[in-house]
Amino acid sequence: MPPARESLIYDVSMPASASDPITRMTELRTLLHRANRAYYVDAAPFMSDAEFDALLAELQALESDHPLLADPNSPTQRVGGEVADGFTQVKHRVPMMSVDNTYSVADLRAWWERCERALGRPFAAVADPKVDGVAISLRYEHGQLTEAATRGDGTTGDVVTHNVRAIASVPLVLQPPAGTPMPPVLEVRGEIFMPVASFERVNEERRNAGEPEFMNARNSTAGTLKSLDPGVVRARGLSFLAHGVGHVEDIALRGHAVDTYHNFLLALRAFGVPISGLAVRCESAEQCIAEIERFANARAELPYAVDGMVVKIDAFADQRELGVTAKAPRWAVAFKYPAEKKPTVLTRIDWQVGKGGTLTPRASMEPVVIAGSKVQHASLHNIDEIHRKDIRIGDTVIVEKAGEIIPQVVEVDLSKRPPHATPVDPPTVCPSCGEAVTKEGPKLYCTNAACPAQFSERLKWFVARGQMDIDGLGDKIVDALIKDGLIKSFADVFTLDAAKVAALTSESTNKAGKVVVRKIGDKTAQSINASAAEAKGRGLARLLDALGISHLGTGSAKAFARTYPDLDAMLAASIEDFQQIPDIGEITAASIHAELHSSAMQRAFTELRAAGVSTVSPMYSATREVPADSPFAGQTVVLTGELVQMDRRAAMEKLESLGAKVSGSVSKKTNLVIAGPGAGSKLAKAQELGVPVWDEAQFMAAIKDL
Ligand SMILES: [Zn+2]
Repeated sequence: MPPARESLIYDVSMPASASDPITRMTELRTLLHRANRAYYVDAAPFMSDAEFDALLAELQALESDHPLLADPNSPTQRVGGEVADGFTQVKHRVPMMSVDNTYSVADLRAWWERCERALGRPFAAVADPKVDGVAISLRYEHGQLTEAATRGDGTTGDVVTHNVRAIASVPLVLQPPAGTPMPPVLEVRGEIFMPVASFERVNEERRNAGEPEFMNARNSTAGTLKSLDPGVVRARGLSFLAHGVGHVEDIALRGHAVDTYHNFLLALRAFGVPISGLAVRCESAEQCIAEIERFANARAELPYAVDGMVVKIDAFADQRELGVTAKAPRWAVAFKYPAEKKPTVLTRIDWQVGKGGTLTPRASMEPVVIAGSKVQHASLHNIDEIHRKDIRIGDTVIVEKAGEIIPQVVEVDLSKRPPHATPVDPPTVCPSCGEAVTKEGPKLYCTNAACPAQFSERLKWFVARGQMDIDGLGDKIVDALIKDGLIKSFADVFTLDAAKVAALTSESTNKAGKVVVRKIGDKTAQSINASAAEAKGRGLARLLDALGISHLGTGSAKAFARTYPDLDAMLAASIEDFQQIPDIGEITAASIHAELHSSAMQRAFTELRAAGVSTVSPMYSATREVPADSPFAGQTVVLTGELVQMDRRAAMEKLESLGAKVSGSVSKKTNLVIAGPGAGSKLAKAQELGVPVWDEAQFMAAIKDL
């Protein structure tokens, strides 16, 4: 008989049910923690989802009857976390260093030989998949999760405990095997990520809601972790795997001190912390390289994205002996796989009309899964690029997807060119309005001001977050409103009939490629109107930016809004007057002036005013009435890194209202740099030039009474 699986798996027998409510609460918490571990760590669930939900509901009811017995690590906290009003920072007790990357087997071998020379003896290392996510540090004190923090700048990170509690695979309490003492402090480093299935599900929901899809799972994971609402975190289906050691006091497993990384991983699993389970201990560089090559193919089958393997020297004593550089440990290296490429057949090319009338080619291809997501379309840049690569419809093309980049057609596999492959001709007329196309260098334009496709793109820009910022008007809904004739002009956005909007349907494509049609509904229609009503008062700068006038971007829109009190004053000004505005040259001034006075723009202004949209510039009065005690008057200020309490745009507007000029780069002329976590080169430059640097807290204190 084989020895009993001296199992890392915890005893899953259910305790007898207690009748005393307080004992019952403890019992339920323990049972639900075990069930969670059995599901996420041991892959051996012992209760159904329905049973789990029923016990959780029972616990919730007991907890609401006994609020004094609340426990921040109760299983109910995953679903009932409170909305936070900001993030605090914490200094990592052991810095969260990043690992040096390498892209070649030769470099990996050189690293191995370097370590061997430095140690003067052979060593073993552990290769573990590099999950493409966001690094996190989880701190357990006496087995209780007390803090979760992001990497931040490696020294200081954001505390995101309330969000991390909402991630089902993060254990809220440790569950060591019988006879193993609980370490007083255990800091686990790992990765929070969005599994491929969650990424696809979330995107399907966003498509159906008419919201823009997430391009990249890692970026959306980072964004999700910074959400103030744990409910959002839970809904996005994030997951966690451990892969590192932080500050640890006295960890032993079954009487043996844990002194290698491989044993640390086993101890984590024994304590109920999920690990990839794919780490391999290698005795030589050649064995390690063979594992990396084997895993290059296997990784595509994983339910999450992996972009490489991290190789760490196994013995902690060896790690300590090699030490760290200023940036990275010497005892670890990350091997990154090259961007994934796959062949597929190009079936058609569509020309999409942008808001400025640019026609951009987009390839449709037979669907292919690359780097964990299904790819069906790729960018082709422009007609000259298509001809240079000799791309023809029907060709087998090689498509590459690297990180967050939109898939690209790299080249054609000429050996597979079928006889019917058709060369691509540039369109002579706009696919939307049928007007003639103009060519400028490699770019093609539709110059018809009334082109419906251009209007649709311009309208999407008009309502987007940085411009008029109208909630609920996602791309699909904008398309539906234009198609049904409810929106014919910018002004129509502000006078929508909610009942008609609610009755409209918007189309989207689900994961299976099926088109789903859904009614927009009362709730969305009303929220669009409420948000549009609020947007009427955004002021001149945002309005000018939103209208998408050529040469009038966000920065110059602000410069105009600082110069003129309202739209009328701006329209009364001459081209020469415009040239007095910083960064506005002769040609730009003439172009902006002409477009402002065009019949189309004049009509837009009249309609927007009639709809009640403000054309006044609050920035103008603000610059004229800077508080006498503003420390920022006349100062050039640079914002860098992440701001936590105030978003960057609000901070910029606040500084500008206090008489500061906010600049994007640090120079000798900079008076002050406000740096948040993650600040990099700008902060370094400021320190080099001796420019004063404030953190966000100093900034918040300075503006408190202004
Ligand atoms: Zn057109």
